[in-house]
Amino acid sequence: MTSISATPLTRYARLADRARSAVEDNVAAVVSEHAGREAVAVQLEQLRGYPAALRRTTLSALGDYDVFELMLMSQVRYGTPYALWRDTPSGFAEDVLGEALFAQQRALLDATVTSPRVAAAMCFGSGKSHQVALLALWHRAVRAKDEGMTVVVVPHKTSCEDLHQILTMLSQANKVPYDHPAVYLTVPNDWRVLAGIHSPDTMIVVSDAGNLRPVQGKAVEQILSSSVRLVAVGTPNEEPGTWFEDLAQRSSTYAMRMSLLDLPSITGEACGQCRGCHDPRPHSPALHMADAQWAQRSIALYGYDHPKITARFPFETARSER
Ligand SMILES: [Zn+2]
Repeated sequence: MTSISATPLTRYARLADRARSAVEDNVAAVVSEHAGREAVAVQLEQLRGYPAALRRTTLSALGDYDVFELMLMSQVRYGTPYALWRDTPSGFAEDVLGEALFAQQRALLDATVTSPRVAAAMCFGSGKSHQVALLALWHRAVRAKDEGMTVVVVPHKTSCEDLHQILTMLSQANKVPYDHPAVYLTVPNDWRVLAGIHSPDTMIVVSDAGNLRPVQGKAVEQILSSSVRLVAVGTPNEEPGTWFEDLAQRSSTYAMRMSLLDLPSITGEACGQCRGCHDPRPHSPALHMADAQWAQRSIALYGYDHPKITARFPFETARSER
């Protein structure tokens, strides 16, 4: 099997790695030299004030040396070369990780920037674990090592191991840090287990949220304060009354849906080349998603209204039947 490390780093990942090493290897010299570079500092702050789209376009037009200088300044000031991606998870995934995203996936990743509580209902085969991994890596990478905390809650041990593998692969392939305990991956089996987390600027990402058990939902609720962001990603369970369904119904939650009909494997939306697997042959990420044949089989098996296809919660289905 070809190693994922054969995939070349993106320009930003390569320059960021150099900037981080430069600072870590020779902190005093780099910091004092950079303290005098007012023009770079001014440019960094100007860019930070731009809307994400304009900032990314501006960056893409700069040469490697200028980007490297900005990343070095970012590392010195903010403890990360990626401060310029702090408000754009989709921008980070595309620019730094080289991910090929489709429109709705971008919207889903970015929802957390404007909404502190997000319930993302996704159909079967839509790359939920990958989405969770992208969010966790982004949240970690755009902060200094000791700043904030990223907690990933998973209902089962096996899905926890799968997610750990995806995170490790993405981290190594892109030289983006993924380290415990900055990224805390947990299967809570006791509602008190997360109670010790008091870090301000924490983000909780719940993976496979449709299968979260009540005690696990309670564990998450325990640490939800005003400084904690929550993104729950999963396929709704057929059974009503799950924690995920309850979350999606709250007025304070921004609820999103990605049904089978939204996937590029069905719509044909172009979304670039896959970088998320070990296959070195050029292919679209849509190849890994549920397709029309799967849909036909599943509709025959479960019916049109099944959450695996519609990503709808039981309360939504009940409402539309009234
Ligand atoms: Zn692939």
